[in-house]
Amino acid sequence: KYILQLQDVEYEYPDGTKALKGVSIAVEKGKKIAVLGANGAGKSTLFLHLNGILKPKKGKLFYNGEEVRYDRKSLIQLRKKVGIVFQNPDIQLFAASVEQEVSFGPMNLNLPIPEVKQRVEDSLKSTDTYLLKDKPTHFLSYGQKKRVSIADVLAMDPEIIIFDEPTAYLDPYHIEGIIDIFNALSIKGKTIIVSTHDVELAYSWADYIYIMKEGEIVSSGTPDKVFCDS
Ligand code: ADP
Ligand code: ADP
Repeated sequence: KYILQLQDVEYEYPDGTKALKGVSIAVEKGKKIAVLGANGAGKSTLFLHLNGILKPKKGKLFYNGEEVRYDRKSLIQLRKKVGIVFQNPDIQLFAASVEQEVSFGPMNLNLPIPEVKQRVEDSLKSTDTYLLKDKPTHFLSYGQKKRVSIADVLAMDPEIIIFDEPTAYLDPYHIEGIIDIFNALSIKGKTIIVSTHDVELAYSWADYIYIMKEGEIVSSGTPDKVFCDS
């Protein structure tokens, strides 16, 4: 039932910062999850654990009920299934053109060329960036870069898509565009995990919410439970 689970995960950065202090989450397949919390609460560190970029100092990660062993093979598998859209699109985009950028991932999966082309076209269209395909990524506006960085991840066709602060620095119009993308993915049965400061957004959009504070989950549940019970 749970596609992704973290169990009692602790993580400390090399400088001694305890970023996660025993965090457990259990994500149901196909659900919309929001992670709320102030800057520094540990949201990004949590996300980096969900696709194995960081390895817990203590605790475990399960994908589809199976414990993730941190060997090369299982990490490659995990990263195909769990895609992350980072907050800053500039750290993600590096190819010469938008089309090359979005092709890079599926090319690396050694898919047949027609399938690569199809995935790239679908990802560009669903993020409304198809008309930009021949543009150099460094000429794009912030909102455009953001959407291309989403297309990048969608082209990998992951089962779970994680968005780190996807609406930060965007105006209401562009935020709506991003939410439309979430909803389209949701309809396709994808599991979506989003971090945000936006309580309204979490309340109206999410099926399930985690609230983080200082490296811990301090509250979790459906929006009504989290916001109305306390
Ligand atoms: P959030 O995403 O909620 O803003 P982070 O996961 O980025 O929180 O940060 C959690 C804590 O870990 C913060 O105290 C932050 O300063 C610290 N931190 C994040 N990245 C590093 C790093 N690379 N080295 C040391 N400390 C870090
Ligand atoms: P689009 O090309 O999709 O129309 P815009 O360039 O208009 O996107 O930017 C979308 C939003 O991002 C706007 O609210 C704008 O103020 C904001 N924005 C633009 N550039 C930056 C930037 N470098 N850093 C933070 N926010 C930005």
